[in-house]
Amino acid sequence: MATSKKDYYELLGLAKGASADEIKKAYRKMAVKYHPDKNPGDKAAEEHFKEVSEAYEILSDTTKRQQYDQFGHAAFSAGRGGGGGGFGGGFGGGIDLEEALRTFMGASGGGGGGGGGIFDNFFQGGGRSRNPNAPQQGADLRFDLDIDFEEAVLGSKREIRININETCDSCKGTGAESGSGKKNCRDCGGAGQVVSGGGFVQYRQTCPTCRGAGEVIEKPCSKCQGKGLLRNKRTIDVKIPSGVETGSRLRVSGRGEGGRRGGPAGDLYIVLHVREHEFFKRNDLDIVCEVPVPFQTAMLGGGVQVPTIHGNAELKIPAGTESGKIFRIRGKGVTGPRYGTGDQHIVVQIEVPQGLSGKEKKKLQEAAKILTDKHFPLTQKMRKAAATFYAHKKALEK
Ligand SMILES: [Zn+2]
Ligand SMILES: [Zn+2]
Repeated sequence: MATSKKDYYELLGLAKGASADEIKKAYRKMAVKYHPDKNPGDKAAEEHFKEVSEAYEILSDTTKRQQYDQFGHAAFSAGRGGGGGGFGGGFGGGIDLEEALRTFMGASGGGGGGGGGIFDNFFQGGGRSRNPNAPQQGADLRFDLDIDFEEAVLGSKREIRININETCDSCKGTGAESGSGKKNCRDCGGAGQVVSGGGFVQYRQTCPTCRGAGEVIEKPCSKCQGKGLLRNKRTIDVKIPSGVETGSRLRVSGRGEGGRRGGPAGDLYIVLHVREHEFFKRNDLDIVCEVPVPFQTAMLGGGVQVPTIHGNAELKIPAGTESGKIFRIRGKGVTGPRYGTGDQHIVVQIEVPQGLSGKEKKKLQEAAKILTDKHFPLTQKMRKAAATFYAHKKALEK
């Protein structure tokens, strides 16, 4: 039975007194990390995903959490109360992956896309409609896509391959073989609820067999085994607009999980992750770029070629330019997905000549003789400040 089951708090990396909010956050982090779509074929990740989903299912429910805190895993093992059949979606022997995924994804909250952000939807609980026979909208799906810096600032087109649970075309999402009817659920006698637990802890729960409907399908659809959904590989064209950033979400309407019993499909959300570029950094719509400027150009002034995301540009550098000085080229930044174009900021990084020969050094030393203290105001300023500091120090030490 309940052999060496892991502690639910430990699984989520939490202490016993964790708040509901902490539990939600910890689960979200773990679920994203171990989600099967992110770890295809990785059995260990899938196992872990199920475990954390089970932990979340229990700890996010006040009643179940209380029972767990009091009795540990024994509160839910089949030993108590004689084969109570476990909780909710049929935990007991272990959580069903499909069920865990549904819990994770949740149901799309009707309107779709408005306000709240998908993660809010993810956690509005099970994703089951109140009436188990009513049409049910498919869950929203999330797909994480890594893109290059260039694609983010200039826009691009991508094809993504994704496994989607789509409405079964044979039973139209009802789960019933065509022509077959429904019969009373044996486990709850048609009540839709069962009483489990034993001794002084008794509780009523939705019947896990019929999920509260009170009746079950007589003959499950042979194509989808009664699930109403079929897992299909799909290729989806994605247009990435210019100016997107890490965390930007693209919504592909109707490409989420298929609906059941005539319900519409959910939406697919593509969450973008932009890879870093070697030189260019983003600051909203502006581009910041450190540009090496030859030592003599910084000293005497002149033009330098600087890269921008729109191509090379010429930048005039005045004589006596210091390292770290920032120049701006207007309109050479990113064009936002909605409006506006940013600038490019160039941070000067003075490059000192490398690999001088003996002869070259000699010539330069000769030329450098014309430089005196007055050519180096920063050095002078610092010398003065240091002298003042030492004078104070001496006075204090007396
Ligand atoms: Zn079917
Ligand atoms: Zn039932």
